[in-house]
Amino acid sequence: MTLAYIGLGANLGEAQDSLKQAAAELARVPGISALTLSPFYGSAPVDSSGPDYVNAVATIETTLDARTLLAALQKIELDHGRLRPYRNAPRTLDLDLLLYGDQEIDEPELTVPHPRMHQRAFVLKPLADLAPTLRLRQGSLAELLEACSGQRLEQI
Ligand code: AMP
Repeated sequence: MTLAYIGLGANLGEAQDSLKQAAAELARVPGISALTLSPFYGSAPVDSSGPDYVNAVATIETTLDARTLLAALQKIELDHGRLRPYRNAPRTLDLDLLLYGDQEIDEPELTVPHPRMHQRAFVLKPLADLAPTLRLRQGSLAELLEACSGQRLEQI
């Protein structure tokens, strides 16, 4: 059983409802259990466009390997009608595999820990809500959050 962290984000449609539904769908995937969802945060788009994002992080326990878990995340994204007309387009649902136990994965389709998570307040803050003592390679969550204190973020 591996403890994994999933980042959830949406900025189109009923974004909060999309995240709640996605979390419920994730919890129903065979091989995934014990899902815990962080509070929701509103954030300005980073490297993207359109309305504010709603973001959250979920912890799960899973017997799935990391690639199978990524495939399950991508299926849920597709079920929510996510289109990819261009890189970083606004999206109805974005699910990222942030951490998979303490594994480091560097493959064309999968990089874990997620390569940009340590720079994003909208990931770090909900992650800190769930796992305040967690440390990333780049530092403690508190240190990393301090470094992105310029990013607008509010709990909703
Ligand atoms: P995005 O448009 O940001 O959702 O990126 C999706 C692409 O990133 C997919 O082609 C994935 O294969 C790739 N990818 C690489 N690492 C990860 C990760 N840790 N979580 C989610 N997608 C990943």
